[in-house]
Amino acid sequence: MSQPGEHPINRVREVQTPLKILLLAAEVVPFAKTGGLADVAGSLPKAIRALGHDIRVAMPRYGRISPHRFNLMRVLDPFPVPMDDRSEQAELMQTSLDGDVPVYMIENARYFDRDCIYMYPDDAERFIFFCRGMLEAVKRLDWQPDIVHCHDWHTALIPNWIKTIYAHDPFFENVASVYTIHNLAYQGIFGYRVLEVAGIDEYGFVVHPDTVDLNEVVDFMGRGIFFSDVINAVSETYSREILTPEYGEKLDPLLRDRRDRLFGVLNGIDLDEFDPATDSYLEANYNLESLDQRVHNKLSLQREAGLRQDPHVPVVGIIARLTDQKGLDLVTSTLEAVLQHLGAQFVLLGTGEQRYHDFFSELSNRFPEQAGIFLTFNASLARRIYAGSDLFLMPSRFEPCGLGQMIAMRYGSVPLVRAVGGLADTVSDYDPVSGNGTGFVFTTYDPMALYTSLVRAVETYRHRDIWRELQVRCMQQDFSWEKSARKYVELYNRARAFRAQDRTA
Ligand code: ADP
Repeated sequence: MSQPGEHPINRVREVQTPLKILLLAAEVVPFAKTGGLADVAGSLPKAIRALGHDIRVAMPRYGRISPHRFNLMRVLDPFPVPMDDRSEQAELMQTSLDGDVPVYMIENARYFDRDCIYMYPDDAERFIFFCRGMLEAVKRLDWQPDIVHCHDWHTALIPNWIKTIYAHDPFFENVASVYTIHNLAYQGIFGYRVLEVAGIDEYGFVVHPDTVDLNEVVDFMGRGIFFSDVINAVSETYSREILTPEYGEKLDPLLRDRRDRLFGVLNGIDLDEFDPATDSYLEANYNLESLDQRVHNKLSLQREAGLRQDPHVPVVGIIARLTDQKGLDLVTSTLEAVLQHLGAQFVLLGTGEQRYHDFFSELSNRFPEQAGIFLTFNASLARRIYAGSDLFLMPSRFEPCGLGQMIAMRYGSVPLVRAVGGLADTVSDYDPVSGNGTGFVFTTYDPMALYTSLVRAVETYRHRDIWRELQVRCMQQDFSWEKSARKYVELYNRARAFRAQDRTA
């Protein structure tokens, strides 16, 4: 049995046989985005395509996705999708990612022609329709996938259907499933009724002796874990953490049962999109050879944030959803001391819970020259913070992967993180004796631990040559998708092997 953390996929060579993969997600950049899932679903397929595999993407055609802007073409006549004891009509549209990866969109005005992507009372039904519609659509296309790659709860019923209502359908006989967990905190929990809508009520609840809270609800995430041929989380550390009650969000017993099928694959970032040498949002572009130019971004950020312009004051940045997950209670407990005693400046960009909005608004009133607060979502300002801050703070309570620390490193902002999930896998603690490390790392979830790391970081910042070496090491890290795409291809092959093995068992 393979253990999460020492995955055989890390040791296996790239596979030569081209695979056919259908990747399904609720959001995909550039068509629709609310979070990191969309970044992954929009960039991973391009990297897998580059390895020679026939990967295609599927998502709903939300009302806000302009057919004209994205050149959507209708590829099938309207077709029925079984829903409960009736059927609903779907249409299938097609476009592509960069002209390279085909993208299918399931269309139905009643379900998807709305202002937002989620947060509707019939979300379960909407995503059941999307997923079931896509399985019905793919049978009508002249293309049979080897793999369905599902992401998060919205697409988690697909492996469930393949092993139940489609179990005797020759089209799906050899189709293996991979299920990627982006964040176990969002599980998609609904009542019995959705089993009827999904046509799987005769199979009932998934019951496990150690998940009593979940035995009489329909937990989409739990079903994805239970029925998939292979499961992965978006970093190796998170794939181990979720086996424990502390991080398992009540699904750890189920995950422990399936640990031989559970792997970790770190997300990448799009190196073309996030490139300080070409980023048009910056005051000054720079790379490793022209790092001296970076200071212009710092001065311009200080101006934009209303802070005193001074190249020598350390600027600490945060860009985050303002939720408990991001460790903001540690930040609110220590920030005043950081501003008063360490003399640092602070820039925050984020939206979220009201109590954090209140706290940071008040802070900026009290420290107008030291704290620049932007309670909004602003992608271009985010780039300027990555390029203009000296330190980038992510003291998360839990962090499945985290993109912020990787982007920060690419832009030469040194990360200060808590050693959890993907943060532990991407940032190593600076060791002044050996001179190694790419940031500042603390472990205990405690304000004092954060404060001590900040003291260490600010002290290190005073030594210009040491800081420059740290920045250079950060910028040299390889967070390209290529490495992770190869690991996903290994997972696809592993899923096929498990599927074949289970079918003959
Ligand atoms: P999560 O997916 O948990 O929100 P990640 O670190 O994985 O956290 O990804 C967050 C991404 O969203 C990063 O690219 C970050 O720069 C961006 N982001 C978060 N909040 C904002 C904001 N208010 N404005 C602009 N970009 C933001």
